[in-house]
Amino acid sequence: MLVVQKYGGTSVADAERIKHVAGRIIKRVRAGDQVVVVVSAMGNTTDELFDLAFSISKQPEPRELDILLSTGEQMSIALVAMALRGMGQEAIGLTGQQAGIYTRATYGSGRILRVDPVRIQAELDAGKVPIIAGFQGTTEEQEIVTLGRGASDTTAVALAVSLGADRCENCKDVEGVMTADPRIVPTARKLNDVTYEEMLEMASQGSQVMHNRAVELASVYNLPILVTSSMVEAPGTLIHGGEDMEERNRVRGIAHDVDVAKVTVRGVPDRPGIATNIFEPLAQAGISVDTIVQNASANNLTDLTFTLGSADLAKAEAQMPKICEEIGASGFVADKGLGKVSIVGVGIQTEPGYAARMFRTLFDAGINIELISTSEIRLTCLVAEDRVPDAVRALHDAFELETVEQP
Ligand code: ASP
Ligand code: MG
Repeated sequence: MLVVQKYGGTSVADAERIKHVAGRIIKRVRAGDQVVVVVSAMGNTTDELFDLAFSISKQPEPRELDILLSTGEQMSIALVAMALRGMGQEAIGLTGQQAGIYTRATYGSGRILRVDPVRIQAELDAGKVPIIAGFQGTTEEQEIVTLGRGASDTTAVALAVSLGADRCENCKDVEGVMTADPRIVPTARKLNDVTYEEMLEMASQGSQVMHNRAVELASVYNLPILVTSSMVEAPGTLIHGGEDMEERNRVRGIAHDVDVAKVTVRGVPDRPGIATNIFEPLAQAGISVDTIVQNASANNLTDLTFTLGSADLAKAEAQMPKICEEIGASGFVADKGLGKVSIVGVGIQTEPGYAARMFRTLFDAGINIELISTSEIRLTCLVAEDRVPDAVRALHDAFELETVEQP
């Protein structure tokens, strides 16, 4: 089979690990598979390059910053290719540009427009293992563009799709997707499989296993992704879209997130255009808002609450007085120190019992719910940040995630 393997920063953090990764790749090739490899920058290299740039300039040119950041992944491709050759396996490192990854010309947040895989295919045909730099591409004008933090996953999926690979393997320092964060719930279990939708909910809810854009891309092309350990031999978690799972109706995992803030606008006149007048200025100030809840109005006045990352709260608070004045609201209150806990699973929203059990569990644990939001496959409660670990543990228990046989 043809497989694209992606190794993250931790897996290639030093010379020892790079040699280990090379050994793993060779094993696969000897077993008869064709392997294309995508790598991230070693360890914290990308952060260090950022710091370096900002120690020299308060506002580095986005173009030059991308040239700088793209070198992190380029170190990795050279070293992994050297390691493979040293072990007797033909290999070749390719930058995003050399690999034919074309992006939009938005420095720092490029989106992949197309992949022209002729060079990769030629190297494969010549019996070499192509090692591709993740997180970067080129414009038609040969400008280097990076794809946003964590986007090597997206590079790997895009390559797998364009090469017609059988699957993408995301090789990490964890064994797969867990039912909850094992640092909070020691009895958390690895899931054998999850759907794309479940994975997306888990990722955006704070369990950082896969880059969201990578999962979205894989789901569009129905490309299976195996999340697996680069350190130990273990079966991993398969992310796919199988139809037999569609009506599974079971909680699959507990996701959580911290550093959440909440703003409530009080006494908002209930008339058209209010939401626009609140959220347009916030968007213009570069604040991304998460959940929005508007209450039913009484006497034509309503409350509107939204959540955002704590880091953006000060910026939002600076905007709010003017917004309140413009829409004629009576005022606003802001809260930080909040977190989110979610239960995730295909089918759970159509079964009212799950919501009831979730609320009962939090109540029994003495945890106050500040706000509730739902999607088709997720139920999320906003709670005090310092109660998040308790909430995750209680829910993991209540939904019997440590014992239930995973399909
Ligand atoms: N090295 C880049 C980052 O740290 C890309 C990646 O790791 O996926 O964001
Ligand atoms: Mg990284």
